Order: sequence, then C-alpha cells, then structure tokens
Amino acid sequence: MFDYLIVGAGFAGSVLAERLASVADKKVLIIDQRDHIAGNAYDYYNKDGILIHKYGPHIFHTNAKRVFDYLGQFTQWRPYEHRVLASVDGQLVPIPINLTTINTLYNLNLDCSQLEAFFESKAEKKDKILTSEDVVVSKVGKELYEKFFKYYTRKQWDLDPSELDASVTARVPTRTNKDDRYFTDTFQAMPLHGYTKMFQKMLSHPNIKIMLNTDYREIIDVIPYKFLIYTGPIDSFFNYCYGRLPYRSLEFKFETLDTEVFQATGTVNYPNEHAYTRITEFKYLTGQKHPKTSIVYEYPKAEGDPYYPIPRPENAEIYKKYQQLANAMTNTYFTGRLATYKYYNMDQVVAQSLALFDKISQQQSEKHVN
Ligand code: FAD
Ligand code: UDP
Repeated sequence: MFDYLIVGAGFAGSVLAERLASVADKKVLIIDQRDHIAGNAYDYYNKDGILIHKYGPHIFHTNAKRVFDYLGQFTQWRPYEHRVLASVDGQLVPIPINLTTINTLYNLNLDCSQLEAFFESKAEKKDKILTSEDVVVSKVGKELYEKFFKYYTRKQWDLDPSELDASVTARVPTRTNKDDRYFTDTFQAMPLHGYTKMFQKMLSHPNIKIMLNTDYREIIDVIPYKFLIYTGPIDSFFNYCYGRLPYRSLEFKFETLDTEVFQATGTVNYPNEHAYTRITEFKYLTGQKHPKTSIVYEYPKAEGDPYYPIPRPENAEIYKKYQQLANAMTNTYFTGRLATYKYYNMDQVVAQSLALFDKISQQQSEKHVN
C-alpha cells in the first residue's frame, strides 16, 4: 500500500514526492507516461555528447530564496544570466527593449531620461490594461509593438495579442537603461550537471518508487494508495466533461553543427521572419565546452504535447469549472502547470508544490489531533 500515488515526474510531482518521502516519511509511487523523469525540464547528452533540453530551452531564475535553497539541496549551481537578441529591421538588437535597442534601431544617441521621454511620446495611454496588446502599446506605442510583439505573438499563440491576457506579453518588460539581461531575478543559475541529474537526486529516496512508460489510468485500479496527487492536464483527468482546455504546443528541430559557436547569444528571437519563433544555442545555457554546438528551433503548433496553457478569459472560465470539480474531491490534489492551467515558470511550480506540501502536512496534523 502506497501513501501517495503521484502522477507526473516533473517539478510539480517530484517536489511533492521528495517532501512526502523525506520529511513526512510517506511511501510514494511516482509515475510518468514518458520514458524519463524531470517532465519538460528533462535534459540529456545527445549523440555528439552535447547536453540539450528535449522540450526546449529551460533557464532557471527566481526571486524566491526558499525555492532556490530547496533545489540547492539536490544540485550545485552554475551562475548564468540569459541574454536574448531579436532580429528586427535586419539587425540583432536586445530584447527586452532597452536603451541600446532604441539607439541602434533608430540610429540615436539618447540617454536614459531622453529615452523615457521618447517612450512617453510614443505611448498610447489606455484606461484599462486588459490584453497583451494594451501592455505594450501603452508603454512604447504601436510601432515598437509591431516590430517586436505583434507577429511573434501571432506565431507563438496563433492569436492576436489583443486576444490574450495582459500577463503574456507583460512577462517581457521595457527598460530605459542598458540592462540587457532577459530576467532580473535575484537568483539566476543553472543546475551544474543538468536538470535530470538534479531530479535523480530528488527522487533517490528509499520511500520513493518510480514507474515510467505508464499512463496512470493503466494502474489506478490495481495499485492501492491512500492519496492521489495529479500533475497532468486537468481537463483530461475529468474526461473533458466541460470540453477541452486549449494548450499550445511546439515542434522542436534540433541541429548539431560542426562549429564551436553558432550565434552571438543564448537565444535569438525572430518576431517577423521564419515559421519558428526563436533559436537557442545550448552551450550558452549549460556552460559546456565542446568543439561542436547544438541548437534548437521552436515551431509553434496547435496539436501535440500540451506545453502552454493559453491565458485568455474564455479559457479561465472553463478552467474554473474543472477547478470546482477538483476542489470537491477528497484525497486528491492538483498541482503544476497543466493541472492548475497556469502559465508558470519552473520556480513558480516548485513554490506551488512546496505550498501544497505545507497544506497537506497541516491537514494531516489536524486530523491527528482530532
Ligand atoms: P511537466 O513538466 O509538464 O510535468 C508533468 C508530467 O506529467 C509530464 O512529464 C507528463 O508526461 C506527465 N503526465 C501527464 N499526464 C499523464 C498521465 N495521464 N499519466 C502519467 N503521466 C502523465 N520555465 C522556466 O522557469 N524557465 C524557462 O526557461 C522555461 N522554458 C520553457 C520552455 C518551453 C518550451 C516550455 C514548454 C516550458 C518552459 N518553462 C520554463 C516552463 C516549465 O517547463 C514548467 O514550469 C515546468 O516544467 C512545469 O512542471 P510540471 O511538473 O507542472 O509539468
Ligand atoms: N514575446 C514577443 N516577442 C518577443 C518575446 C516575447 O512577442 O521577442 C511575447 C510572446 O507573446 C511570448 C510572450 O511574450 O509568448 C512571453 O515571452 P517568453 O519569452 O517569456 O515566452 P516563453 O519563454 O515562456 O516561451
């Protein structure tokens, strides 16, 4: 008899498996339909011996010391600050848009305060910032919005930014200084030996058994357990009774090139040309030294593995209905990007699962007292 059956061995499931096994001394079975642990953060050495991320580039960053310290028990860190260039008007310029971006693009020599005035003169003020178009246009105006955001977003989501929640493009800020880092979080680092190694360490506890290549539906009626933790798509769990929640997918095209360096920075975004959105060169992220280099192109698509929840009001409405079903269940918990239909980064998923562990611990100690 297992105390917990955990569906999904990504961050959401693995954090709970580790906490329940090592802190609460529970017996855990964690299962995944894939042939590996680590969920979408899975990385491995390709046949040329270069460490690559199977499900697209994963860069770790967080402001949460609790999350950074927690994961730090299972890996050493390699400091890494991600930088991205965008191909716009035939030039490669920093994104997030900053002082260098504007001076390069328009052949100007503005300083920070002049750039503030420049943005002010272009911005189209809105009463309410509701959509992903509003966020950008209200800060930098239509022209920069069109150069950097409109067509990238259409490619990525197959929706116009005006059809997406503000939170989507709000992930990418606008700056008036020369800071060209993609993220400004306090902690920015990569697991020194990769994500998969970190997950192996998290899950290597005698109380944890791992079962791969298994859909939970194959075993749910034959393996006894007390509690279920589910981290897969929530609509699938409830047999799509309120219809399908849309998820956006990607196709990854990997290449290994017989050259040491392919591009000038970790990621180059292509808002306006090509069917792909961006190219990432893994060695920047991992710090690996190798005479060859591996890159990945991301081609957005509708069908395929569910990678991105799509933040817009009609989807939030459907999710709410599933959430009510989830809340009404006893002995079953939902956590993670797919099970709570949230466009979460890795650190947010870790924080969510740590918070769920705290809640479970509290519920069980209350039961004990009663
Ligand atoms: P997942 O990692 O998706 O794990 C869920 C697991 O459940 C999967 O392994 C799946 O196989 C399994 N599962 C589902 N259904 C079943 C079933 N029926 N039976 C058995 N198993 C099942 N975040 C960052 O912080 N930085 C980044 O740079 C970053 N880049 C990203 C790039 C891309 C292209 C994508 C798609 C995401 C990126 N993310 C990034 C987000 C990050 O991947 C997620 O936040 C994180 O992996 C979510 O973890 P999770 O455990 O919730 O979900
Ligand atoms: N975005 C854009 N142009 C860019 C970068 C981002 O329009 O050059 C928009 C796009 O809608 C994208 C969103 O901002 O989906 C969030 O970007 P982020 O890089 O955070 O996406 P992720 O890494 O999660 O795919």
